[in-house]
Amino acid sequence: MSARSRDIAFVNAVGNSAVAANLAAGRRDAVTALDDAQRARLVTDVDGAIRDLRAVRQALAAPVRTCEVCGERFVGRVDARYHSDACRQRAHRDRGRH
Ligand SMILES: [Zn+2]
Repeated sequence: MSARSRDIAFVNAVGNSAVAANLAAGRRDAVTALDDAQRARLVTDVDGAIRDLRAVRQALAAPVRTCEVCGERFVGRVDARYHSDACRQRAHRDRGRH
């Protein structure tokens, strides 16, 4: 199941319901409103949503760098200085000329 269809399934199943609000608020008895098949399906959907959110969190926390040659913003390692091989090569060429 794709992330998108999983999100849709999750919203359809529980997203707008009082059950979801109650569960999110820690009222665990709200699961009694669901049958076993619904709960099993939602466990799978929630697992997928957790994976999706973890990926979103990682992307949001990734360091955004600014290329020292062209100024483009990019996602890279903390010590990354250039956004592309072309900019890295240009930086090395320019350095050699000085
Ligand atoms: Zn660049």
